[in-house]
Amino acid sequence: MVAIILDGKRTAQEIQKELSLKVKEEGIIPGVAVIRVGEDPSSLIYIRNKKKRAEEVGIYFEEHTLKENTSQDELIELIKKLNSNSRIDGIVLQLPLPKHLDEKRMLEKISPEKDVDGFHPLNMGRLLKGNPLFIPATPRGIMELLSRYLISLKGKRVVVVGRSNIVGKPLALLFLKEDATVAICHSKTKDLDLITKEADILVVAIGKPEFIREGMVKENSVVIDVGINRVGNRIMGDVDFKRIKEKVSHITPVPGGVGPMTIIMLLKNVIEAAESRKINAKLKQEK
Ligand code: NDP
Repeated sequence: MVAIILDGKRTAQEIQKELSLKVKEEGIIPGVAVIRVGEDPSSLIYIRNKKKRAEEVGIYFEEHTLKENTSQDELIELIKKLNSNSRIDGIVLQLPLPKHLDEKRMLEKISPEKDVDGFHPLNMGRLLKGNPLFIPATPRGIMELLSRYLISLKGKRVVVVGRSNIVGKPLALLFLKEDATVAICHSKTKDLDLITKEADILVVAIGKPEFIREGMVKENSVVIDVGINRVGNRIMGDVDFKRIKEKVSHITPVPGGVGPMTIIMLLKNVIEAAESRKINAKLKQEK
């Protein structure tokens, strides 16, 4: 058996068309500002991709590049300016930040209404309670991909390997909301392979090339590979795609799986932020 490839690239293109249409029909120009501190080479590529897609959809895109040695006060100053800039609906602080900057504190400075990455504690709390304002883009992209391939989640055993705040934890909450039974694994998990082998749906987000081998997955299961690992000139996922695709029913490739879905879901969040702004402005006028 050869798995159905969950084609994130094609799915993201479909969603991009839908979003472009929406922006045109609603007559809005959503705006997003991306802040980059320093010269992290991966961040440069991610931002270039975000800018290209955003502009294709009709989103106004602003990039703010700060020097590696920028102080916390300078960064906070910029975030405050963007918080009160009416042209900007969403603010993205590109991670990782240089070590001298307190990532958690900086993320908290972004206004929750403009926190399109969904990393502000208020938005994470809302996600925990089941009524999120913004869902972090990677988990949202994964859920959207599963939904578009009509993969049912109710009652399924889901194993998420990786417990980061941007992928593993929010994703586990989303699966729970869809009535799946969820286990979260991490670097201290014992007998990981026994747990992953039980998964109807296995999501791997650890950042270790081809860490998940064929013997660790269940036959006919669904495997979602979030990992992006640069090995020489190649980009590799966290799962051994070549062998595992012979065993499972569905699998995401790397590249072309979760990555493109992440970017498009970020843009969807920006558009939703712009729509809320429009509604709020109308309500204010009516008062
Ligand atoms: P983090 O480094 O923040 O988290 C990694 C997680 O993996 C941690 O919870 C860690 O456990 C766990 N882990 C590490 N080694 C093992 C192991 N041997 N067994 C089990 N668990 C392990 O990573 P991110 O969540 O930010 O990213 C994960 C991967 O996904 C990276 O490759 C990243 O590049 C990629 N990524 C891809 C995106 C996309 O759009 N496709 C978006 C975001 C990330 P512990 O908590 O115990 O340390």
